Amino acid sequence: TERLFGGFKKTSERLSENLTEVVSKAKLDDATLDDVEDALIMSDLGPSAAARIREKLRDKRFGLEISAQELKEAVAEEIAAILRPVAKPLEITAFPRPQVLLVIGVNGSGKTTTIAKLAHLFVEDDYNVMLAAGDTFRAAAIGQLQTWADRVGVPIVRGPEGGDPASIVFDAVKKGTEIGTDVLIVDTAGRLQNKRELMDELAKIRKVLGRLNPEAPHDVVLVLDATNGQNALSQIDVFKEVAGVTGLVMTKLDGTARGGVLVQAAEQYGLPIHAIGVGEKIDDLRPFDPDLVARVIA
Ligand code: GDP
Repeated sequence: TERLFGGFKKTSERLSENLTEVVSKAKLDDATLDDVEDALIMSDLGPSAAARIREKLRDKRFGLEISAQELKEAVAEEIAAILRPVAKPLEITAFPRPQVLLVIGVNGSGKTTTIAKLAHLFVEDDYNVMLAAGDTFRAAAIGQLQTWADRVGVPIVRGPEGGDPASIVFDAVKKGTEIGTDVLIVDTAGRLQNKRELMDELAKIRKVLGRLNPEAPHDVVLVLDATNGQNALSQIDVFKEVAGVTGLVMTKLDGTARGGVLVQAAEQYGLPIHAIGVGEKIDDLRPFDPDLVARVIA
């Protein structure tokens, strides 16, 4: 656990410290519960998850003596209860193939790296994977995706910089169908500054995809950077509206004290969380294990 989730260390240190301070007093009374709630909010779990955990603790343990260790375990259990319903790995079930994953997110969120990591995971599971370079807006994006495709050893369909993403996606699905691709992972431009254009672009991609396969895109995965804290959460609102998000990957949970936003995202949005990023390397994407994450956070 320690090694796997070195990632959550800072989040966990912060919350543990706060919780340990709380329980110099032994009985779980209202004042202690207030302190617990504050500690949770300070650890980025957000007001509603904090209130919910407080209520659960109150129901189960009010007036009882509790040690710091027991309090931590109780909090971990309540966090796990929030996380369990949203823990859903990406599964490749589409028929006909390929299953089409649109990957969206603002620049810098770790979108490209996450695409590469997902491709790597699917390849390890013996799926045929293809990438499509649908972020034609940023000069470096296509080259960067190509580099990852080479490294992971999967084909990529790309067009010119400034090209039409929808036509790249069209070509990719056609080619993927020909060569037996199981999973097509589509990179998209993360231009939240220009919502209208982004919306039009995604609508056009959807239209083209829908003509080839009414079920596509099967997944619309939003990549969020945990270090952005509350900002990451407000991106969920915008992208839900613009893109019809079906699930989340949260990145950069290594080295941030803001891992609590993961709990907040789960509580507030209830969207599936597919995986979490805990580093820059190709195998630094972990399946989202709610019990493990809860134990590490609290
Ligand atoms: P994009 O602009 O959204 O495509 O972002 P990139 O995939 O290029 O990632 C931006 C930076 O974040 C790069 O330096 C990545 O190595 C880094 N990065 C991505 N995911 C993670 C992660 O889970 N942990 C850490 N520490 N860095 C990450």
